[in-house]
Amino acid sequence: MGKIVIQLQAGTQGRLVRHLLFWFLADTTQKKIVVAIDGPAGAGKSTIAKGLAARLGFTYIDTGAMYRAVALWAVRQAVDPGDMHRMEQLAIAAGIELSPGHIALNGEDVTDSIRTPEVSSGASKIAVIPGVRRAMVAKQREIGERTSVVMEGRDIGTVVFPNAQVKVFLDANPGERVRRRCEEMRAKGETVDTEQLAAQMKERDQRDSNRADAPLAQAPDAIYLDSTALAIEEVIESILKIVRSRVTNGREYC
Ligand code: C5P
Repeated sequence: MGKIVIQLQAGTQGRLVRHLLFWFLADTTQKKIVVAIDGPAGAGKSTIAKGLAARLGFTYIDTGAMYRAVALWAVRQAVDPGDMHRMEQLAIAAGIELSPGHIALNGEDVTDSIRTPEVSSGASKIAVIPGVRRAMVAKQREIGERTSVVMEGRDIGTVVFPNAQVKVFLDANPGERVRRRCEEMRAKGETVDTEQLAAQMKERDQRDSNRADAPLAQAPDAIYLDSTALAIEEVIESILKIVRSRVTNGREYC
């Protein structure tokens, strides 16, 4: 294994070998690998987790999209997010299907509909309800037990997969997080009120960090990464190094 690791350092060929190695590891070992990425809104989790999953050949799971789908359904059904029992029923009944770049709710592609400010705020409101979280966590564990995943969210390393082989807490300073989110929205042709967006993100982060059940928090054994001054590729490379060290050190995956 040592020789392979040395080979992996070098250029494109190394990258290909590394890709094949992880694909092999992910597909042939009985124990699935979980890379958990948690952090606040706008820290770059989605871009990083997506890129990382592609490099590793793992399945990318955006758990925020799952809470958003339930919130969207609640809006459509005019269910009061304060009605905990009804919200839990919705979360259990929600037919959520994740496929690369898409999410479907009860058979309908809702990839774009779940990205509105109303749904962002609604998702963080319904995410405080323990019954909703139980339903989402059960679905997430089911996926992670079937296949190796890069799963991003708020509680992946603390609650969903406390035994994940790799845990990263991805952060960035608040100004940079708002700037990135603005850029993302402008790229989609949306008009952005920066101050309003900053206020919404702050409110959501506070709610996510202060809720009683599974608040946003760094797991004690998670690696803290501040992406403020880093390029996407640099962050992906740092996490790949961590994955590689865990995988090659753990004989159980060899
Ligand atoms: O990640 P994203 O910003 O799309 O998540 C939307 C909301 O879903 C978050 O603000 C948070 O309230 C909730 N969420 C959560 N636990 C997760 C993922 C998302 O509570 N694992």
